[in-house]
Amino acid sequence: MKIRRELIEALIEAAKETHPHEFFALLTGKRGVIEEFIFIPFESGENFASFNLDLVPLGMKIYGTAHSHPSSNPYPSSEDLRTFTHGKVHIIIHYPYCKNCWKAYDSRGNEVVLEVVD
Ligand SMILES: [Zn+2]
Repeated sequence: MKIRRELIEALIEAAKETHPHEFFALLTGKRGVIEEFIFIPFESGENFASFNLDLVPLGMKIYGTAHSHPSSNPYPSSEDLRTFTHGKVHIIIHYPYCKNCWKAYDSRGNEVVLEVVD
């Protein structure tokens, strides 16, 4: 799986803007390249696993999820792992939201390498 550089930059920017709250989005794309995200609004404190999939346009393929941690901890929590069932790649962007302040995981929470393409 690959991701567009512009998209990862946009996700980091969105995470920064949402700080100190968490940002959550679904990832979508074409031919194995993540190209777009869909921002999913949720109430603060609400369990991520309960997000509304009706917000996803019909026929759109969900490649995974992205969310932010307002702390410098890049690792998925046990609640995070429950949302990792939607799609294959799960990105966590963490404080201070620098260019390399993110990691990608598979649905079991193992770190994976995501190739960044221009
Ligand atoms: Zn998390």
